[in-house]
Amino acid sequence: MLHWFAGPMRLTLQPFVLSSIIPNESEWMRCDAMTEEENSLPQVLECANHPGRETSLRCSKCGKPICVQCVIQTPVGGRCRECANLRPLPMYQADLFTVAKAMASGLVASTLSFLVLFLLVRGFTFWLSPLAGIAVGEAISLATNRKRARSLQVVAAGTVVAGALLANVLNLYIAYGRITPALAGRALISDLPALLLFTLLAIVLAISRIR
Ligand SMILES: [Zn+2]
Ligand SMILES: [Zn+2]
Repeated sequence: MLHWFAGPMRLTLQPFVLSSIIPNESEWMRCDAMTEEENSLPQVLECANHPGRETSLRCSKCGKPICVQCVIQTPVGGRCRECANLRPLPMYQADLFTVAKAMASGLVASTLSFLVLFLLVRGFTFWLSPLAGIAVGEAISLATNRKRARSLQVVAAGTVVAGALLANVLNLYIAYGRITPALAGRALISDLPALLLFTLLAIVLAISRIR
């Protein structure tokens, strides 16, 4: 081995050899391996969390295949998230009290902003309903200290719909002084396509404030 490093020529050649030949060789090996049978390559595994992502790592405790993105380095080797005992970040967790706060603030913001839209800008209500979605998202975000839990996104979507319906009913009551099922049904059916489309937009915007 020593003669490789004996002369300056060899030394200057070394980086060239490394960068040009070795990567090519490993590429060829990879191609060969792909044409062979799968079980001749026990090292190529699929990450348990990322289907389709190849990896050669395994959790040092449970043996689950994990990719470089999923591996957590611990003093006893690379482990999966579960075995490394990592809890999700508190920012992405919402307890029951937080969810309740989100429901209350979301419903109030949704009902109020839809009602204001219905009463003040009648003809443009639907076009402006995404604003109500932003209001709901911001209200929930503020009430929950900017948490970003999945459960809060569900609450946001739910309160947009509930608030829109509630504001519709209140709006009918304000306009007619009474509410009958026939009246509510007629109003709902005539507005349904627009209502669905813009409620959906409002939901998307509400959720975008919490993710
Ligand atoms: Zn594990
Ligand atoms: Zn992974």
